[in-house]
Amino acid sequence: MDHFLYKNGTLHAEDVAIPDIAASVGTPFYVYSTATLTRHYRLFTEALSPLPHLVCFAIKSLSNVAVLKTLGNLGAGMDVVSGGEYLRAKAAGVPGDRIVFSGVGKTRAEMQLALTGGIRQFNVESEPEMRALSEVATSLGVTAPVTVRVNPDVDARTHEKIATGKKENKFGIPIARASEVYAEAARLPGLRVVGIDVHIGSQLTELEPFEQAYLKVADLTRRLRSEGHTITRLDLGGGLGIPYTRSNEAPPLPTDYGALIKRTVGDLGCEIEIEPGRLISGNAGLLVASVIYVKNGEGRDFLILDAAMNDLVRPSMYGAHHDIVPVAEPAVASPTQEFDVVGPVCETGDTFARGRDLPLVAEGDLLAFRSAGAYGAVMASEYNTRPLIPEVLVHGDHFAVIRARPTFDEILNRDTIPPWL
Ligand SMILES: *Cc1c(COP(=O)(O)O)cnc(C)c1O
Repeated sequence: MDHFLYKNGTLHAEDVAIPDIAASVGTPFYVYSTATLTRHYRLFTEALSPLPHLVCFAIKSLSNVAVLKTLGNLGAGMDVVSGGEYLRAKAAGVPGDRIVFSGVGKTRAEMQLALTGGIRQFNVESEPEMRALSEVATSLGVTAPVTVRVNPDVDARTHEKIATGKKENKFGIPIARASEVYAEAARLPGLRVVGIDVHIGSQLTELEPFEQAYLKVADLTRRLRSEGHTITRLDLGGGLGIPYTRSNEAPPLPTDYGALIKRTVGDLGCEIEIEPGRLISGNAGLLVASVIYVKNGEGRDFLILDAAMNDLVRPSMYGAHHDIVPVAEPAVASPTQEFDVVGPVCETGDTFARGRDLPLVAEGDLLAFRSAGAYGAVMASEYNTRPLIPEVLVHGDHFAVIRARPTFDEILNRDTIPPWL
């Protein structure tokens, strides 16, 4: 459920009419709903209660500091995958002991940044990384809390680009080698083993793969304990999928996911961490665009929008579907027409949808892409020197620009001319 509904014939974000935002900031823009972010975060905390737990929002899905502060103020932890994301979490006021650091390629500089600023744990993904962390922590005279990310070799049955839990993926260490790797972690100076980490992929639409992975984690917990390790935390990753179409998809609910966690690892006396990104942010955001032209081609009609693949890359990168709806509510049983919905970028890949049935629309009309909160703004680029589009946060009947559109001067001034030119 989200808070983007038609009221009096106009699409609203909570109590704010989308055309009011468009008139104020111009199109295209992203808009996020505080109530939806809050609701989704709470679904997870409720699903995990009464187990001791921390819901760490995966910043990579939506990283605006105002969004992080919204969630951080509710008590959320953060899952970061770079030094930049770590600094975003800190800028949002999230204390270091609620920040976990994931990712296969943490640099020594990033390790130092987090060890100095405060960190709950590093999710270590390889032996070379573990040795580097040991060196950095030792040189700083501190101890780094670590989990090892294990690769359980389960098929997440999701898009191949976002499946991470098969043995051929670059993530984690094979679960069969865990004993060996934990033994080394225990020997290395400057490290303190606190738990186990696993993350098998994103946009999972079934619970089965989670169940397989978590049962393996439960077995591993018992084995590592019998080998003398202290396992007090289980970081179970993110990845729960969301419905991208209104009609025919029903991914598992956080309550069922929570019940699964309790069933598989709930009796181990561990603190549970999860790292959801998309399920919190995905349906909490819209991308709003204007129709520049309606172009009637040979056998195909095109809607050319002012948003493009550089603003929302998911359709061209993953073949992803986003529902597209007019901001002015169409009359019941109003006629529809099939359109290819495209942006102005000079690539055929700049296509949001082919043969999409839409109500009749005209130049200047506003359209909204649903489910655009996750992996939308964060993956945007300035390809074709199109400025990054603004982000807006709605709270009840208020809205605020939380990232402004850069001016062309700002964009051009980032380039510098070397002295010989
Ligand atoms: C991407 C990622 C997540 C979040 O995945 P979602 O599908 O957005 O929930 C969590 N943890 C790690 C380690 C990730 O790489």
